[in-house]
Amino acid sequence: MKSKTSMLEVLRRVIQEVNGARNLDAALSTMVRRIRKAMQTDVCSFYLYDKTLESLVLMETIGLRTQAVGHVVLPLGEGLVGLVAKRSEPLNLEDARSHPHFRYFEATGEERYSSFLGVPIIHQRQMLGVLVVQQAEKRSYDDEDEAFLVTMAAQLAGVLAHALATGNLTRPALPGGQAMFKGVAASPGVAMGEAVVITPPADLNSVPDLVPSNEAYEIARLKEAIAKTRDEIRAAAERLASRISSQELALFDVYQQMLGEAALSEEVEKRIREGQWAPGALADVVRRHVQYLERVDDDYLSERAADIRDLGRRVLSHLQEDAPSTPETYPDNAILVGDEISVAMLGEVPRDKLKGLVSVHGSSTSHVAIVARAMGIPTVLGMMDLPLPRLNGAPVVLDGHRGRLFVRPTADLTLRYENLIAEEKVLSELLEHEQDLPSTTQDGHEMPLMVNTGLAVDATTLLKSRIAGVGLYRTEVPFMITERFPGEKEQMRMYREQLEGFAPLPVVMRTLDIGGDKDLPYFPIEEANPFLGWRGMRVTLDHPEVLMVQLRAMLKASHGLNNLYVLFPMITNVEEVDEALKLLDRAIIELGEEGITIKRPKVGVMIEVPATIYQMDALAKRVDFFSVGSNDLTQYLLAVDRNNPRVSSLYDALHPALLGALQELSLDARRLNKPISLCGELAGDPAGALLLMAMGFTALSMNAPSLPKVRAAIRRVTLHDAKALLAEIMCMDTPTQVHEHLNKRMDEWQLSHLLPPRD
Ligand code: PEP
Ligand code: MG
Repeated sequence: MKSKTSMLEVLRRVIQEVNGARNLDAALSTMVRRIRKAMQTDVCSFYLYDKTLESLVLMETIGLRTQAVGHVVLPLGEGLVGLVAKRSEPLNLEDARSHPHFRYFEATGEERYSSFLGVPIIHQRQMLGVLVVQQAEKRSYDDEDEAFLVTMAAQLAGVLAHALATGNLTRPALPGGQAMFKGVAASPGVAMGEAVVITPPADLNSVPDLVPSNEAYEIARLKEAIAKTRDEIRAAAERLASRISSQELALFDVYQQMLGEAALSEEVEKRIREGQWAPGALADVVRRHVQYLERVDDDYLSERAADIRDLGRRVLSHLQEDAPSTPETYPDNAILVGDEISVAMLGEVPRDKLKGLVSVHGSSTSHVAIVARAMGIPTVLGMMDLPLPRLNGAPVVLDGHRGRLFVRPTADLTLRYENLIAEEKVLSELLEHEQDLPSTTQDGHEMPLMVNTGLAVDATTLLKSRIAGVGLYRTEVPFMITERFPGEKEQMRMYREQLEGFAPLPVVMRTLDIGGDKDLPYFPIEEANPFLGWRGMRVTLDHPEVLMVQLRAMLKASHGLNNLYVLFPMITNVEEVDEALKLLDRAIIELGEEGITIKRPKVGVMIEVPATIYQMDALAKRVDFFSVGSNDLTQYLLAVDRNNPRVSSLYDALHPALLGALQELSLDARRLNKPISLCGELAGDPAGALLLMAMGFTALSMNAPSLPKVRAAIRRVTLHDAKALLAEIMCMDTPTQVHEHLNKRMDEWQLSHLLPPRD
């Protein structure tokens, strides 16, 4: 094996090539060559696992006969390669032929090779294929060889998974057409429609493919964009002429030459004539050049790759000036797809046309997810493997319950989802009839239901007769929409609207809960571990000037209404509560001095940091009510980032540990004679809501669209049965057992239609 630096260099290079390649076949071919060279061995091959065939197919090789590619197929567990895949472990053999699993394929010419080292390629527990090196003479591959190949395979895994998902690499048996992508379910529901890709400005990798309606126009605007870029570069060179060395200045000449060369614009024009719009054609050509230059072993040329990419971006940004990144007209069933979707983008699509949302980044608690849930728009975020450029205009089915997107769905799948949508519609019409009826069980227990708000779209008047109040008004949401901290008057207006709109019902207003993933554009917080960092009360206690303005605005807004409840988020220590209460009292005194007499509102704390579970007695001495934030309590108790799609399967509010904590909390609150509500997503899950009711929670607060199903579930059971179910569930050891048992009971009670569809 070569030195450590060269190993790193080879790794870096291979990953870069495979990543950047539009044509993965070419990249794989370079990859096996590079590995063979680095390990100074005779053969390097890549076998891809085909799920449908349950076999490994030779996809690329250097050393074996190329005719064997695509023809050598090893069922899982068969041959040495099949054994590596089945065991998901490396296999290192000096004398491969004497191994009982050795199988000889005439087509490969493999008989010549004695030694064998194979390692599996595994991505998120899924085996994707096997990397193999072989040697003619007997060789015992050493630890370092093995470590190199294992590292290479681990690095390749993500790239391969992405390539498979995007269709850049097709599994041999996979029919073209339908593709499925997974993400984090962020807002429930199912939608079918046409993908509308929103392009972030000047990103060569996410320009969608579009067929131009007018070639001449595309060519003209390309020329104009190139001319503008040349002017820009000339101006920049002039500005910098006195400040940089002549050598550096020469770079601008190189740029001018590149842009001036007929070659670039001619090539792009050719692509336009072949049926690409100008931005797509430019992106294609630039990518091709960059890839070529990066592959060459020459520092000077690799540098030029960066130049070309930079120039490409500049030209693209001019092209995008006149072609807005959001379309002017939307199809009737638009499923908005983007790298990152902002709330502002949402606002641009007419509500009746917006059927679903998908993005590569984001999480179930990101701002856009909160808005989407409040608006009832099915949403899946964190779809890391999405091939953005090739999605525009494609027919898609979005499953917001399971977090899936189907692109170009088959007729079968379309029918299945059409039926599901029809069932959901019938169900919601059916449930609508009982929305004004009380949320009372069949044995007369009343379970107050409240809503989570924070948005203008919340339909106050319609909701008012159906709820017991607002259980959580997230004040950070209006803060996110402004361009600076809103002033006292501005805040007062917003809060008054809420308080008045829902009066005389109680409105629980939470003080600013920023940090974590909820940044304000004008108050960015950069931290390595934002969820464990400066968040919620920690920020506002450090900035009493911000908290004071907010508290004063809330208090003033409540004048004469007396339905304000104040809630402090992210409490870790009792001292934080003392400090916050001091500020609240100061605000009341100040207002009194200004002639506005306000009674101290009821105050509560959020129970979302596990420490507070053990401080209920101390907290109860200071506050009037508790509100459990199960979203955060889940992430902190299970140590699972609520936004990380990689670990989202571990994030489970019905984990036995959580259920234990919730039961304790509710018993403690009762002992301490304090109301306790829950305002996380768990409250909006009909099965979860029944368990919380059985535990003794005094109110459940949820997004408005969850109300009908939760109410229906409560109205169809007795408290007695719910308590029996809880007792059974509390004996379960694992999250899977909890879910299975809940599903079983829901089936028996004929409530399964209220739960999200299962696989
Ligand atoms: C929670 O953590 O459960 C909660 C309701 O607050 P947020 O989702 O805004 O953090
Ligand atoms: Mg929270």
